[in-house]
Amino acid sequence: MHASRRPLQHLPQLRHLLPFLLLALASAPGRAETPPQLSGKIEVELNSGLVRGDLCLSQLPEGGAGNFLLNRGLNIRRVYDKQTALPLAFEGGDDSVGVGDAVRYSIAKGIGAAGYCVSYTGAFPVFRIDAGDWGDDDWKGLIAFDGRSIRAADQTRLFPVAELGVGGAQLETMRFDIEVDCPACRNLYMNGAAPAAGPRARFRSDTPREPMLYAGDFPVASIGGSHFIGADANAADAATIAAGIDTLAELHQQYIGLPYAERPAFLSFAAVSSKRQLGKKSWAFVTWPTVATDGRLPFSSMLETVDGKRQLLRDDIDFMSHEMAHYYFGTRYHPRGPLTWFLTESTAEFLSLKITRTVRGDLAYQAKLSKLFQRALKHQARFLPLDQVRQASDIDEEYRYQLGPLLLLALERYAGEETVRKTLGALVARPPQTPMDYNTFKAALLEAGATPAALQRYADECLRPSLAQGCLAVYRTAGVALR
Ligand SMILES: [Zn+2]
Repeated sequence: MHASRRPLQHLPQLRHLLPFLLLALASAPGRAETPPQLSGKIEVELNSGLVRGDLCLSQLPEGGAGNFLLNRGLNIRRVYDKQTALPLAFEGGDDSVGVGDAVRYSIAKGIGAAGYCVSYTGAFPVFRIDAGDWGDDDWKGLIAFDGRSIRAADQTRLFPVAELGVGGAQLETMRFDIEVDCPACRNLYMNGAAPAAGPRARFRSDTPREPMLYAGDFPVASIGGSHFIGADANAADAATIAAGIDTLAELHQQYIGLPYAERPAFLSFAAVSSKRQLGKKSWAFVTWPTVATDGRLPFSSMLETVDGKRQLLRDDIDFMSHEMAHYYFGTRYHPRGPLTWFLTESTAEFLSLKITRTVRGDLAYQAKLSKLFQRALKHQARFLPLDQVRQASDIDEEYRYQLGPLLLLALERYAGEETVRKTLGALVARPPQTPMDYNTFKAALLEAGATPAALQRYADECLRPSLAQGCLAVYRTAGVALR
């Protein structure tokens, strides 16, 4: 889900030094490569579904950054050099190649050091859902006009995204400086920034984000450092939600040992598909730090009353703590290499399970573990042992959300809870610049105090045998005695 960086250069000459080099780099202070900068202007007409963009990409990594992706409904007016404004020839307009919801374009040559700009126009269907005019489908990659607003999540590629070589990393996480102009919009929101009053505003983010735009006729509020966008948030409920979020942030912070300097933004939108309805929540997506849910429900729907006290919905606690863990794994530390998904998603789910246990108690926790185990069991034929994973795609959805967190919990029983905690904390504090495979992960565990013997036993008992016979089988039933 996140852009990877340039591979380590000069590998052949350094092959004999590699083990030492990797160890050194793994513990070197984080020097994350500068993410691209997205700047320019976007204009939106809510009534007609018209979009006009003039956006520039700069601070691109050297080499191979001449490909970009742009939503397939957008027509390019011109591509030009950012500094000289001279036109740049590009391919992809005819015989276009689709990549998700986008088309790939390639600029063969001539991009100056300042980067390039793309000027484009497109129009999209407007579904006036409040008048009963629904569409057939809706998904995160749809540029959706619901009659009152435009919703364009990162996946839509409403803004150009650089791609490192054909099929390579998509540099979708960017710093941005964007002017939004939408004459009929009461309020405007760009991912992660404070919402602003319409009809036009400039949004700047030095924190790299996946760009997402939500603009239209809807209320916004900022309370306790959290933003509430798209529906009503009464002050008391918003304060309760913000306090609940603070508790989760505090727990994450205690575990990782680094300040949790982020708060989610909550967005309530209306899906345009006739399979959804207003007033009912049936779909959620996250473009961190924005947590978006459909139904255009007021934010009080995130709360329930337990023992006379208003608190976050119990299911939302699990979901939110997983998403919030991506501040550390996915934002502060962008894993790359074979263990990308294990270190992005399994770690987030592992941290969420810890919060489930603390906030909701052992029973809820054990029930979740046994559910994960039962699900993992169904898919185990597909799972490679963690130390045989060679590429990121070896770790599929079930692996990352079901098997992965159980493997981390089991690791605690072999290497020690404190060792696992220190290892994960170190990955966030000093993000490795090298791709992570099991060997580099193991090196990080050893550095945090694991013994080779303990890790050997872990490999023998947890990675080798089938799930039913291995160390994870302890999670088979709810209510097992967990340490
Ligand atoms: Zn996740």
